[in-house]
Amino acid sequence: MSEGPKRGPEKPRKFQAIKGTRDLLPPETVLWNRVEQTANEVFTTFGFGEIRLPIFEPTELFARAVGADTDVVSKEMYSFDDRDETSISLRPEATASVCRAYIENGMQQLPQPVRLYYTGPMFRRERPQKGRYRQFYQIGAEVLGGSDAPAIDAEVIQMLMTFFDKINLAGTTLYINSIGHSADNCRRAYVETLRVALQNAKDKLGPDSQRRVDTNPLRVLDSKLESEQAIIETLPRIADHLCDDCRANYAAVKNELELRGVIYKENWRLVRGLDYYMRTTFEITAQGLGSQNAVCGGGRYDGLVELLGGPPTKGIGFAIGEDRLILSLQEGGQASQPQGRDVYIAWMGQRAYATAVRAAKNLRNSGLSVELPPSELKFGKALGQANKIGARYALILGDNEVAEGLWTLKNLSDGTQTKLAEPAVIQYLRENQRSSR
Ligand code: AMP
Repeated sequence: MSEGPKRGPEKPRKFQAIKGTRDLLPPETVLWNRVEQTANEVFTTFGFGEIRLPIFEPTELFARAVGADTDVVSKEMYSFDDRDETSISLRPEATASVCRAYIENGMQQLPQPVRLYYTGPMFRRERPQKGRYRQFYQIGAEVLGGSDAPAIDAEVIQMLMTFFDKINLAGTTLYINSIGHSADNCRRAYVETLRVALQNAKDKLGPDSQRRVDTNPLRVLDSKLESEQAIIETLPRIADHLCDDCRANYAAVKNELELRGVIYKENWRLVRGLDYYMRTTFEITAQGLGSQNAVCGGGRYDGLVELLGGPPTKGIGFAIGEDRLILSLQEGGQASQPQGRDVYIAWMGQRAYATAVRAAKNLRNSGLSVELPPSELKFGKALGQANKIGARYALILGDNEVAEGLWTLKNLSDGTQTKLAEPAVIQYLRENQRSSR
């Protein structure tokens, strides 16, 4: 039998993260944790509880809730057939899932309203650029059930601004708008008025907006295209078309915001991309983000739970783009410091090693971060390593120190050395840790 051509060993393939996804590494993840921890603390003070949701859901859920005509659903979802051939999608947002969970878990039986928040990855097949990814992270909150009192809208926005304040996000601007109420038909009537005005100007619009004249005229107001701005300025404005109820509601929301000392700007073009919004809509921009400067969007969506098969339920919520939030914090100078260590244990000799292992355990138990080299290093090399990883102290343990019961502690920022007995070392470092953090 003849052998086929001899092939050399296959070169191992180099894998790369999929376009639009990225690894979040330390020390940056320290900042991510701080942001999530602060959200948890602030949202808890407003009575919100955490909900953890599936990453994938039936495609139909998003088609229903977000709208089959929206870009998110029609172009950007990662959808695939499960083995039983039902279509499932990676979630592009989480409000639909929260509403599904509210219905499925009978949360309408709980005292209303139910206040929930979530954090986690979302997936949209958008064109990646700074601040826009295909896997990105949101921190969101929803208030479901109970009344639609304007105080609820204002409190949700107040919570958001309190959170941004707590994490020192600089240069934020809150924009608000009311897009009317479909049940009272003021929104539908406005959309028709807008459609007519847009049809008259259709030849001056770009292809995306031309398509939206038929599918979703409100979205034309979102356009950032330079050539369309002058035309958009001449379009009819929603504020002039609100019914009496919606107008009173919008005025009351503004009053409630003022009562809470929340500063806002009105933006009549703020319509939001997703179909389910009504009445109050809002968006927050932050500095240092270029064109993708919206860090948060939200609004009221009273019909959504019902649309998904639940009872008539009021709803309002928001989603913060965590990636953009972090970018803005970094642009504002809040870079994460490399982790460093409190103590590097430089040990030499077998007796010293046993003591070093015990010392590492005790120091870690008292909350200090410790690096214990796994094999013996000459003291000079060990101290070099300690400096390289940014350790604050080196604990020097040779057989002499162990025999004497006196350990040497070297402060690596000023080079000073102290000799201390074992219990005093822990005490000294603990006190020092407290004063330096
Ligand atoms: P939305 O769910 O579209 O209302 O978006 C809410 C927030 O999520 C936006 O204001 C952005 O901060 C963020 N966001 C939306 N899409 C992306 C994306 N592709 N990449 C990064 N952040 C995003």
